[in-house]
Amino acid sequence: MADLQRHRGNFRWESVDLLPYKEGDSDSCSITRQILSDGRDGLPVQLRYFEIAPDGHSTLERHRHLHIVVVLRGKGRVLSGSEIVDVGPLDVVHIPSGTWHQLQATRGEPLGFLCLVHRERDRPERPGPQELAQILRDPAVAAFVRP
Ligand code: MN
Repeated sequence: MADLQRHRGNFRWESVDLLPYKEGDSDSCSITRQILSDGRDGLPVQLRYFEIAPDGHSTLERHRHLHIVVVLRGKGRVLSGSEIVDVGPLDVVHIPSGTWHQLQATRGEPLGFLCLVHRERDRPERPGPQELAQILRDPAVAAFVRP
Protein backbone atom coordinates (compact mmCIF):
# COMPACT_ATOMS: atom_id res chain seq x y z
CA MET A 1 0.00 0.00 0.00
CA ALA A 2 1.27 3.42 -0.85
CA ASP A 3 1.95 5.44 2.25
CA LEU A 4 1.75 9.06 1.26
CA GLN A 5 2.41 12.05 3.45
CA ARG A 6 1.22 14.66 1.04
CA HIS A 7 2.84 18.05 0.92
CA ARG A 8 0.24 20.56 2.15
CA GLY A 9 2.10 23.57 0.81
CA ASN A 10 4.62 25.92 2.37
CA PHE A 11 6.94 23.05 3.34
CA ARG A 12 4.49 21.36 5.68
CA TRP A 13 3.41 17.76 5.28
CA GLU A 14 0.21 15.94 6.26
CA SER A 15 0.39 14.18 9.66
CA VAL A 16 3.83 15.63 10.38
CA ASP A 17 4.27 17.76 13.51
CA LEU A 18 6.23 20.98 13.56
CA LEU A 19 8.88 20.45 16.25
CA PRO A 20 11.58 22.61 17.84
CA TYR A 21 15.09 22.26 16.43
CA LYS A 22 16.37 20.12 19.30
CA GLU A 23 14.63 18.42 22.18
CA GLY A 24 14.63 20.64 25.24
CA ASP A 25 16.48 23.44 23.49
CA SER A 26 14.69 26.70 24.16
CA ASP A 27 17.14 29.11 22.53
CA SER A 28 16.74 27.83 19.00
CA CYS A 29 13.24 28.97 18.07
CA SER A 30 14.59 30.22 14.75
CA ILE A 31 14.74 26.60 13.51
CA THR A 32 11.90 24.16 13.00
CA ARG A 33 12.10 20.40 12.50
CA GLN A 34 9.71 17.92 10.89
CA ILE A 35 10.34 14.18 10.97
CA LEU A 36 9.25 12.84 7.60
CA SER A 37 10.36 9.25 8.10
CA ASP A 38 11.69 7.38 11.11
CA GLY A 39 12.99 3.83 10.89
CA ARG A 40 10.22 2.56 8.69
CA ASP A 41 10.39 -1.20 8.05
CA GLY A 42 13.72 -1.46 9.81
CA LEU A 43 15.56 1.01 7.60
CA PRO A 44 17.79 2.54 10.29
CA VAL A 45 17.55 6.16 9.21
CA GLN A 46 15.58 9.25 10.05
CA LEU A 47 14.69 11.82 7.41
CA ARG A 48 14.05 15.30 8.76
CA TYR A 49 13.14 18.62 7.18
CA PHE A 50 14.65 21.63 8.92
CA GLU A 51 13.98 25.24 8.28
CA ILE A 52 16.30 27.98 9.50
CA ALA A 53 14.71 31.44 9.69
CA PRO A 54 16.26 34.22 7.58
CA ASP A 55 19.75 35.00 8.82
CA GLY A 56 19.50 32.28 11.46
CA HIS A 57 21.93 29.43 11.97
CA SER A 58 22.24 25.92 13.34
CA THR A 59 24.47 25.12 16.29
CA LEU A 60 28.19 24.72 15.75
CA GLU A 61 28.68 21.05 16.60
CA ARG A 62 30.26 17.75 15.68
CA HIS A 63 29.37 14.09 16.17
CA ARG A 64 30.29 10.65 14.89
CA HIS A 65 27.18 10.27 12.73
CA LEU A 66 26.99 11.71 9.22
CA HIS A 67 24.59 14.18 7.69
CA ILE A 68 23.36 14.06 4.14
CA VAL A 69 21.73 17.43 3.48
CA VAL A 70 19.58 18.27 0.45
CA VAL A 71 18.54 21.92 0.21
CA LEU A 72 14.91 22.45 -0.79
CA ARG A 73 14.45 26.20 -0.41
CA GLY A 74 16.41 29.37 0.12
CA LYS A 75 20.09 30.10 0.05
CA GLY A 76 22.66 29.46 2.69
CA ARG A 77 26.22 28.71 3.63
CA VAL A 78 27.55 25.57 5.18
CA LEU A 79 30.68 25.17 7.24
CA SER A 80 32.05 21.63 7.19
CA GLY A 81 35.50 21.35 8.70
CA SER A 82 37.61 24.12 7.17
CA GLU A 83 35.36 24.42 4.12
CA ILE A 84 32.60 27.02 3.69
CA VAL A 85 30.30 26.55 0.72
CA ASP A 86 27.33 28.46 -0.68
CA VAL A 87 24.27 26.28 -1.18
CA GLY A 88 20.89 26.61 -2.84
CA PRO A 89 17.94 24.45 -3.87
CA LEU A 90 18.74 20.83 -4.76
CA ASP A 91 22.38 21.04 -3.72
CA VAL A 92 23.52 17.97 -1.78
CA VAL A 93 26.06 18.29 1.04
CA HIS A 94 27.71 15.41 2.88
CA ILE A 95 28.96 16.35 6.33
CA PRO A 96 31.47 13.70 7.39
CA SER A 97 31.83 12.06 10.75
CA GLY A 98 33.64 14.12 13.40
CA THR A 99 33.51 17.37 11.43
CA TRP A 100 32.63 20.71 13.02
CA HIS A 101 29.69 22.10 11.07
CA GLN A 102 27.17 24.91 10.96
CA LEU A 103 24.49 25.96 8.49
CA GLN A 104 23.35 29.55 8.02
CA ALA A 105 20.42 31.02 6.12
CA THR A 106 21.39 34.01 3.99
CA ARG A 107 19.73 36.48 1.64
CA GLY A 108 16.86 37.25 4.00
CA GLU A 109 14.92 34.07 3.27
CA PRO A 110 14.49 30.79 5.14
CA LEU A 111 16.87 27.93 4.40
CA GLY A 112 14.94 24.68 4.20
CA PHE A 113 16.67 21.32 3.80
CA LEU A 114 16.23 17.61 4.17
CA CYS A 115 18.73 15.96 6.49
CA LEU A 116 19.26 12.21 6.59
CA VAL A 117 20.82 10.66 9.70
CA HIS A 118 21.26 7.29 11.34
CA ARG A 119 18.30 6.55 13.57
CA GLU A 120 20.62 5.50 16.40
CA ARG A 121 23.23 8.21 16.67
CA ASP A 122 25.55 9.90 19.12
CA ARG A 123 24.64 13.24 20.64
CA PRO A 124 26.14 16.38 19.11
CA GLU A 125 29.12 17.87 20.90
CA ARG A 126 29.57 21.65 21.20
CA PRO A 127 33.07 23.09 21.19
CA GLY A 128 34.68 23.92 24.51
CA PRO A 129 36.82 27.07 24.85
CA GLN A 130 40.00 25.36 23.63
CA GLU A 131 38.27 23.69 20.69
CA LEU A 132 36.59 26.96 19.75
CA ALA A 133 39.96 28.73 19.81
CA GLN A 134 41.29 26.02 17.51
CA ILE A 135 38.34 26.35 15.13
CA LEU A 136 38.65 30.16 15.04
CA ARG A 137 42.34 29.98 14.12
CA ASP A 138 41.29 29.81 10.47
CA PRO A 139 40.37 33.42 9.52
CA ALA A 140 37.74 32.38 6.98
CA VAL A 141 36.08 30.12 9.51
CA ALA A 142 36.35 32.79 12.22
CA ALA A 143 34.57 35.27 9.94
CA PHE A 144 31.77 32.76 9.35
CA VAL A 145 31.13 31.02 12.64
CA ARG A 146 28.48 32.08 15.12
CA PRO A 147 29.53 30.18 18.25
MN1 MN B 1 24.85 18.02 13.20
